[in-house]
Amino acid sequence: TFHKSKGQHILKNPLLVDSIVQKAGIKSTDVILEIGPGTGNLTKKLLEAGKMVIAVELDPRMVLELQRRFQGTPFSSRLTVIQGDVLKTDLPYFDICVANIPYQISSPLTFKLLFHQPAFRCAVIMFQREFAMRLVAQPGDNLYCRLSVNTQFYARVSHLLKVGKNNFRPPPKVDSSVVRIEPRKPRPEVNHKEWDGFIRICFIRKNKTLGSIFKQKNVLALLEKNYKTLQALQGSRNVSLGGIDDMDVARLGNQSMELDDGMDDEMDVECDEAEGEVSEFKNKVLSVLKEGNFEEQRASKLSQESFLTLLSMFNKAGIHFS
Ligand code: SAM
Repeated sequence: TFHKSKGQHILKNPLLVDSIVQKAGIKSTDVILEIGPGTGNLTKKLLEAGKMVIAVELDPRMVLELQRRFQGTPFSSRLTVIQGDVLKTDLPYFDICVANIPYQISSPLTFKLLFHQPAFRCAVIMFQREFAMRLVAQPGDNLYCRLSVNTQFYARVSHLLKVGKNNFRPPPKVDSSVVRIEPRKPRPEVNHKEWDGFIRICFIRKNKTLGSIFKQKNVLALLEKNYKTLQALQGSRNVSLGGIDDMDVARLGNQSMELDDGMDDEMDVECDEAEGEVSEFKNKVLSVLKEGNFEEQRASKLSQESFLTLLSMFNKAGIHFS
């Protein structure tokens, strides 16, 4: 019996397994990371193609079944099974990752891989179709979102294969797609918190103009808080600001909600300064947008390069997002 909660949908179509392995471009010298090997249908072909397979599997029953399957075969010495949650596991070195994953971990796993060091050559992963389409979406596409921008910032992403529900047992409710993710080398040098904080704000409402997003009181308040904190800290190092996280954005998305100002001590005082001060900051922000011709643009249509340009213009003006 299979655990739905663990996303256990076993690949039962051997032709599909072959085609995934073939598209992965495995070399005979490759160390392969497999996530969620389950009963080992994919694992077997990976062992045939590469030098070593390291498989991370959450379910102890599956781990046992996997070990039993390869016991006493020439494969067993080239297979390492780690029992545990891949999200909580320190990943070993690998050249390539191939996996049919449980879909509930798609997003955190993608980011874990994108930040993995040293960078691997590529990952070939089965995702829920819609998630896959978000990963590869281009500016102007319906599904273009923060996930698309962030992923494509750190990696080249391409759609490899559409996979129907009936290739799995039991069949999941949704269709799937296999995607290739190749980390960019060298990694972009941007401060991730800064980049992510900026992208979150731009995508608060992806179809709104940036002009109207950056005129929102609570967006301005948040940025001004960062701005003043930085100014106050000028000269003193090793102090990091609170980043912009999901909670902040949830608040920003809700206009009627007051920004919960969790800042302690002196900054509170500064934030209460005269009105004139506030609009001066607002002008600063808007003049950056105007200078780069971004006021009428929308996140839904902006390319990665444009986001980078705008972020560096903000940074030059002393406006920061983390
Ligand atoms: N690779 C097999 C196949 O293609 O037939 C099984 C794929 S099944 C979609 C996902 C597998 O991931 C299951 O065996 C499940 O137990 C395992 N799993 C679920 N959550 C996991 C996690 N957080 N870390 C590692 N493995 C996990």
